[in-house]
Amino acid sequence: MISKQHINLTQQHQLFTQIGEVAQDMGTRAFVIGGYVRDLIMERKVSKDIDIVCEGSGIELAKAVSKKLPNTGKVNVYKTYGTAMVRVGDNELEFVGARKESYQKDSRNPIVESGTLEDDQKRRDFTINALAIALNPNEFGTLIDPFDGVEDIQKQLLRTPLAPEQTFSDDPLRMMRAVRFATQLNFTIDHKTHKAIHRMADRIAILSKERIIDELHKILMATKPSLGFLLLHELDLLHRILPELCALKGIEEVEGQKHKDNFYHTFEVVDNICKTTDHLWLRWAALLHDIGKAPTKRFSKKVGWTFHGHEFVGAKMVYELFKRLKMPLNEKMKYVQRLVFMSSRPIVIAEDIVTDAAVRRLVFDAGDLIDDLLLLCEADITTKNPRRFNTYHNNFKIVRQKIIDVEEKDRIRNFQPPVDGAEIMKTFDVGPCREIGLIKDHIKEAILEGVIPNEYEAAYAMMLEKAAELGLDKNKKTNA
Ligand code: ATP
Ligand code: MG
Repeated sequence: MISKQHINLTQQHQLFTQIGEVAQDMGTRAFVIGGYVRDLIMERKVSKDIDIVCEGSGIELAKAVSKKLPNTGKVNVYKTYGTAMVRVGDNELEFVGARKESYQKDSRNPIVESGTLEDDQKRRDFTINALAIALNPNEFGTLIDPFDGVEDIQKQLLRTPLAPEQTFSDDPLRMMRAVRFATQLNFTIDHKTHKAIHRMADRIAILSKERIIDELHKILMATKPSLGFLLLHELDLLHRILPELCALKGIEEVEGQKHKDNFYHTFEVVDNICKTTDHLWLRWAALLHDIGKAPTKRFSKKVGWTFHGHEFVGAKMVYELFKRLKMPLNEKMKYVQRLVFMSSRPIVIAEDIVTDAAVRRLVFDAGDLIDDLLLLCEADITTKNPRRFNTYHNNFKIVRQKIIDVEEKDRIRNFQPPVDGAEIMKTFDVGPCREIGLIKDHIKEAILEGVIPNEYEAAYAMMLEKAAELGLDKNKKTNA
């Protein structure tokens, strides 16, 4: 851990020294503040986004820095926010003048006045994000920590600089940020702060969906997102954002038969998939793969608990959920939908004997999604029974091997039939008609079942055979 009073800024030395010199020449003081300082003290990989705060105008300081430093891009000024961004090499420097903020009850837009460094630190969300390091030559490297942020880093604690009620009523997004930082850093939320979030949970209603989703994305991109989702649940936030997940909670028992708790199962699946992929939308698919189970749950005396059609219902719910949360209804949404829709398919195969035909059909239906689908299904294995756990994993190994074999032989992925509709019509001199579809289907089925290889000659012969059966005559054209 770095000493409490003085921080060694050697790594970025040049940049920070120069900013400090420019500030000094302008008769002002500059500080690096926020996430960069937090990560530096925690000895985490520091971000390329660096926040600089100064007394006076951040925009003026940004302009002066850009003039003095080589290798800088143009100054992007955001007048409404009183901030300016400058790119230096691959760093993005964000400049802002120290400010005081006061908020009104139903708006996220504060009344902003210029203030001291301490005013600025007070308006920050957590003590660990309120740390500043002075950059002017006479005080270079001095840590300014009025709220004991360094101690909170040591205690792994998220705590607000002001009374938590005030911090959260000023900006309820901070409640989401608390959960997000707790998840990313594996920190605990301080007791008072936790209580305040719980009490004020309904205030997230005034936030824009986009900002909530940004935080959810960050929670999902953490190493262990379950920490965040369980925390959101504990704080009464989850059902305000993703009620579909909360509906999965609980175990019902009828006549001694129970089903698993799909709520906790879901988060296990998410944590599992995070070990194998950084793909945000695959992680979303894992989060939503079982949401159709709440509305489709039934008990039958014969078979016990069932969730018939939950994949289909779940895929439809994905659309509604994306729409409600104002997430783009684009190919990413469709990707999540398709994975949810297919999420049980490989499992059925892996639970049984893995036949070539079943694997061929899977590859045919999944197309390019096959690899992601298998990752999802492997992550879905959360059984605590070691025998079953091993069986399922071994069967997936067999499925993977068979996919390689079948693909080499049959080229089923993104399947194009070797004999297409146009060729059938030309051969028999007919227009579009029911028989064309029947012949095409017959050939496709024969290939998938392994009756014929995925090759032109075999498909052509089969076309002739099926056409004859349907009363189509190849020689009709020439005979006529
Ligand atoms: P990350 O690593 O995610 O970028 P960060 O701490 O840098 O983490 P940013 O969102 O980039 O987070 O914000 C930079 C700094 O601005 C924070 O460290 C915090 O001091 C302050 N900040 C950002 N958003 C808020 C907010 N909603 N309320 C109060 N302070 C905030
Ligand atoms: Mg940042």
